[in-house]
Amino acid sequence: MSDMFKGYKGKALEILKKFKVRVWSEAKIETTRGEFEGIILPRSENDDAKHLVLKLDTGYNIGIAIDSIIEMKEYGYKEAKYKIPEKEFPTSPEKPNIKLFGTGGTIASRLDYRTGAVIPAFSPGELYGAVPELADICNLSTEKLFAVFSENMGPEQYTTLAKAIGKEIEKGIDGIVIGHGTDTMHHTAAALSYMVQNSPVPIVMVGSQRSSDRPSSDAALNLIHSTTAASQADIAEVLVCMFGPTSDEYALLHRGTRVRKMHSSYRSAFRTIGDIPLAMVKRDKITPLREDYNHRRKDKKVDIYPYFEERVTMVYYYPNMNPDIIDAVVEKGYKGIIIAGTGLGHVNKPLYPALERARRAGVAVYMTVQTLWGFVHMNVYETGRDMMSKGVIPAENMLPEVAYIKLGWALGQTGDLDKVKEIMLTPIGGDITEGEPYNGYLVYQGGIPEVEDFIKKFHK
Ligand code: ASP
Repeated sequence: MSDMFKGYKGKALEILKKFKVRVWSEAKIETTRGEFEGIILPRSENDDAKHLVLKLDTGYNIGIAIDSIIEMKEYGYKEAKYKIPEKEFPTSPEKPNIKLFGTGGTIASRLDYRTGAVIPAFSPGELYGAVPELADICNLSTEKLFAVFSENMGPEQYTTLAKAIGKEIEKGIDGIVIGHGTDTMHHTAAALSYMVQNSPVPIVMVGSQRSSDRPSSDAALNLIHSTTAASQADIAEVLVCMFGPTSDEYALLHRGTRVRKMHSSYRSAFRTIGDIPLAMVKRDKITPLREDYNHRRKDKKVDIYPYFEERVTMVYYYPNMNPDIIDAVVEKGYKGIIIAGTGLGHVNKPLYPALERARRAGVAVYMTVQTLWGFVHMNVYETGRDMMSKGVIPAENMLPEVAYIKLGWALGQTGDLDKVKEIMLTPIGGDITEGEPYNGYLVYQGGIPEVEDFIKKFHK
């Protein structure tokens, strides 16, 4: 197919031809939903034939349904040349050896991953061409394990990734970076926290909220911060490394079991919940915010537990939820349910008989809190005690998604519900803590005086 209509097929191709509008042209499109102006982007082979993709002036890309198009007019042409020179990545024996695993997401792309105009920048040479600073930090080798948006990550990818990490550690790597879509990075971070234990080196997950064709992209700086953390941090744990503030001042290192994506578009989307982050990272400096972490070691030993039972689900309670939701899950053969309950861990009374039926069917049911901060307390109200008598187990202060991953991981190892309970309630990688620091909650709020004072203590 000619490059003039790159990637377009079927109805989409027909309409471009009909109005004589080319890929990379600036076009005005009149639709049944209003008028749009922007650059027609190329599409990839796998995209559907029902939409055009238009890059607006704001930098956002939108899909326009072919059926809604009334008229189109080309008024300019702006082919983007996103060529990144591929250069030999310079290595030296003094620098640490870092392995970068790619799983996909925006960080893996040279341009917007969603447009089809992307060629993943992934070989060390391409990354060096795009972000030359990386060569001052480490000797980098790369491996693309998957190329998916993170909503498509799941147990199969978690276990593959865990095994690949294990192999690298046994070979003696000094640190690991994992490029990942941001949307479900906290699920994968939790999965790796359970599947890869006692690592001697940092395992740093990183993503990017804005693709590298946008001026505000965080991709390059996130790569710099994460490779710095993997190379220099003394923290041998599964971490997420993303912007701390919305500006590009510093990144935070979050523990894999306590981190959550809390904003759909800010570059500072990730927050440690129920705790404070482990460290701050600047281009050339790592400042620990606490000391209770696993320290880097020189050996090459690591424990890999690549297990996962897929018949586990999470139910987010809402007022007036009908018990048939729980019954349906049990009837479908699910072996575990994580409930995200209200307040201290509640659901309405009509659900109780369904919870009893779940227990009789041998389903493991655990309670977490929608508030995210704080502990489940099922002894405070009678309703909580009732629920516990129906077999619902309070999951302390585990985040709902973390509890979901842990239950899948536990049930992947054993069907014995007492053993599952022992696994679930034994703290691993900080997923359950003794208490939550008040200043952690303040840090999360951001911008209020106590927070500023707290931050200033570390950030001079
Ligand atoms: N939807 C994308 C993903 O999670 C967004 C990103 O990469 O940040 O894969």
